[in-house]
Amino acid sequence: MQDSYVATNLATKLDDCFVRREPLGVVLIIGAWNYPLQLILSPLIGAIAAGNCAILKPSEISQATEKLIAELIPKYLSQECYAVICGGAEETKTLLENKFDHIFYTGSQSVARCILQAAVVHLTPVTLELGGKCPCLIYGRLDMKAAAKRLVWAKFFNAGQSCVAPDYVLCTAETREMLLPFIKEALESFYGSEPQQSPDMGRIVTDRHWNRLVELLKKSEGKVVIGGQSVKETKYIAPTVVVDIKESDALMQEEIFGPILPILTIKSLDEGINFMNEREKPLALYAFSDESQVVKTVLERTSSGGFCSNDGIAHMTLPGLPFGGVGASGMGNYHGRWSFETFSHKRGCMLRGWGLERVNVLRYPPYTESNLSWLRWATTAKKKGWASCSVM
Ligand code: NAD
Repeated sequence: MQDSYVATNLATKLDDCFVRREPLGVVLIIGAWNYPLQLILSPLIGAIAAGNCAILKPSEISQATEKLIAELIPKYLSQECYAVICGGAEETKTLLENKFDHIFYTGSQSVARCILQAAVVHLTPVTLELGGKCPCLIYGRLDMKAAAKRLVWAKFFNAGQSCVAPDYVLCTAETREMLLPFIKEALESFYGSEPQQSPDMGRIVTDRHWNRLVELLKKSEGKVVIGGQSVKETKYIAPTVVVDIKESDALMQEEIFGPILPILTIKSLDEGINFMNEREKPLALYAFSDESQVVKTVLERTSSGGFCSNDGIAHMTLPGLPFGGVGASGMGNYHGRWSFETFSHKRGCMLRGWGLERVNVLRYPPYTESNLSWLRWATTAKKKGWASCSVM
């Protein structure tokens, strides 16, 4: 939080030149339902650290958590600085008519458009934490058993309702055949032979979301090789794996956000990379391989919010890494120090005195070639000095 000093040149040698992080003011934090507590509290920590006041708008879909946040925040935080507003789309739209100093939104791409439109009116800066289809490319030599475990955990954690869950797998037919028995084994070791009975297998958040997923599965022309069962009353969908998926399949038209994993077959690494690059930049991109050259190639030739090799979701647990999307998966980032930066204005400050007037007069008219060359020399920052400049 301390001012970070930057390099000076001869013309500014006697001045204090620094970046000061200032609070933005009042920020609006709008959360989604899939991690309803964390998606409100984690940005709030950054907002408080940077000295802001905040209005919190938890998701109305996860009602119990919404109620808890509304009850506990006024109990533990200053009511002058922090407030919770409950409600859905209509309440949020009304809230958005007010002028905020920053809007931090987590949710879907479609609602993000409404948020941006509302922000335009007041020229409010926004952070958009969105979703999309996160690919997992599995290629070359690798430990299939460990890969299956990590993939299954990342995909079926919270019943697949994670913005960074691998949405689909890209691999060769040979890899798929080797992987499938290990996926079955991993599922059984995590959730037992009847996942419906497992206390560790989540449920789908609402009937509407359950219907959407069951419809997607019905419309899919792929072959269900694992799972496929669903129970409306308990909003259960079994961990499901679907193969023989074409690009045009229903499962490939939108973010799945549920416990259904399509596996698409590719013939080469190039084909996999091209497939991912033909689509919107995802929030996370995963590459599984024992061959470091494969991982490097995928990292270099693709773009995504975050990248993780040989695991899923793991990268977002490290506070040192910025978490956020790029392109259609969002703008801006947070977590750890990055949250503090998001909620801070970086004010470039120069505290000048009256010294070195001989150098300063060089910029005044009448302009001459000789003054210009002296100025060039005097205003060049010494390379060494940049080391003291915070790049964040
Ligand atoms: P949601 O329905 O809970 O909506 C998010 C918020 O927007 C809620 O607070 C809701 O009240 C509000 N809202 C809904 N409609 C609105 C409207 N028309 N105008 C203004 N506000 C409105 O959540 P969701 O959108 O279904 O969330 C799921 C999406 O969020 C997925 O795409 C997922 O990938 C993404 N997500 C992203 C992250 C991330 O960190 N990048 C985290 C979690 C979820």
